[in-house]
Amino acid sequence: MIEKVHDDVKAQFMAQRYDVAVAGGGPAGSAAAWQAARSGARVVVFDKAEFPRDKPCGDGLTPRAVSFLQRMGLADDVAGFHRLNRATIFSPSEWELSFPRRPGMPDHGHGIRRTQLDTMLLMNAGAAGAEVRQSSEVVGPVVDDAGRVKGVTLKGGEKVSADAVIAADGTYSPVKRGLALESKYNGYSAIAIRAEMTAARPDSDSLDIHLTIAHRGDQLPGYGWVFPLGDGRVNIGLGYVNSYKKWQQINAADLLGEFMSTLPREWELPSVAELQKSKALQAWRLPMGFTAWPPWRPGVLFAGDAMGAARPVSGAGISKALQSGLVAAECAVAALTNGGPDDFTNYEQQVNAIWGSEYRRGRLFHRLVGVPTLTTAGLKVLDNLSNPKVRARLLFWEDTLSGN
Ligand SMILES: Cc1cc2nc3c(=O)[nH]c(=O)nc-3n(C[C@H](O)[C@H](O)[C@H](O)COP(=O)(O)OP(=O)(O)OC[C@H]3O[C@@H](n4cnc5c(N)ncnc54)[C@H](O)[C@@H]3O)c2cc1C
Repeated sequence: MIEKVHDDVKAQFMAQRYDVAVAGGGPAGSAAAWQAARSGARVVVFDKAEFPRDKPCGDGLTPRAVSFLQRMGLADDVAGFHRLNRATIFSPSEWELSFPRRPGMPDHGHGIRRTQLDTMLLMNAGAAGAEVRQSSEVVGPVVDDAGRVKGVTLKGGEKVSADAVIAADGTYSPVKRGLALESKYNGYSAIAIRAEMTAARPDSDSLDIHLTIAHRGDQLPGYGWVFPLGDGRVNIGLGYVNSYKKWQQINAADLLGEFMSTLPREWELPSVAELQKSKALQAWRLPMGFTAWPPWRPGVLFAGDAMGAARPVSGAGISKALQSGLVAAECAVAALTNGGPDDFTNYEQQVNAIWGSEYRRGRLFHRLVGVPTLTTAGLKVLDNLSNPKVRARLLFWEDTLSGN
């Protein structure tokens, strides 16, 4: 919903003026608010939810995500969560990948519930000086006659003015919808479903990834996962990308049930019906490969799922949300300091430099894996390889499990 600035609300609008207004207080928004507040900007972050709030997710933090949390001063907090040292791939034969040792980077990940992670991040942004407004729903951008975003409108009609708006309002971004934004990479996404449950097995330090999930005999472009959270709890889910032509015919809950029936019986997992009854089961869409491109328009920058920042190959989105939030805020503050809010090309350049070529390959991969015969053939090759580096390159397009 786009709102023009009318004279009768101008006085109130001017009274609430910020350098940066962030829509959405998930990982992308909290990282952006933290970064902008630390550089001295006057920042407000709005989230429609009251925290702690959940977000459908696998709850798996990659080493790179951990590195961003460390950078934000949260090293001790994150170290307290369940540690993950490796991934076990089932293709269907079972093989292992460890996270590489890289200078200055952690060699492990963590399993962490989003209720905890996101609350920690939002509080961290508040501690850095950002004004945090929970239960504040952004209904759309405020746009001037020249088409530049000047702030946001909240549910109830309140308008808040800002020199830059960072749209970190997730998959269904109302800021993006309000601008009717066209992106040349629109349409790349995944559908994912998950639930947290108890498993009767010792706690593992491995992210288990199962590549052989099928729909009516078609190998699907996706995977099932079992991510441990500690204390006997696991997050089990699956996701598949929408380049598979019949993706809309898939009942994600049924598919999850089929996948769970392949897991060891001695884990004594609940049935999908039980998970549905307890409302533990949640499905969500995951935009990927830059569904808002360029990632800015005059007055506004997009970060995290609102930008489609998740990795097109794996769907890992938390590290990308954190990184894009940090970079968006840095670029916004730099642009505001040096010229004004009409040109955030510096953000586009940075995003391109960091991810451009990886995401170009990723979008191609996204399209190719949608063809079941190709995916079946690719999996066969993968399954018969014995060199772990070659396997990792085929699966992740890199030599190692890079932890993106
Ligand atoms: C089932 C599933 C499993 C996944 N598993 C993993 C995983 O294991 N590891 C990983 O790295 N990634 C995973 N991802 C991806 C990851 O969850 C996302 O990429 C990540 O949450 C993106 O962060 P974000 O801050 O951009 O968006 P979000 O986390 O969605 O945060 C957006 C915030 O905006 C708020 N908001 C929305 N609308 C409004 C509004 N109108 N006004 C104000 N606030 C608003 C929301 O309340 C929310 O707090 C998974 C995704 C799915 C769907």
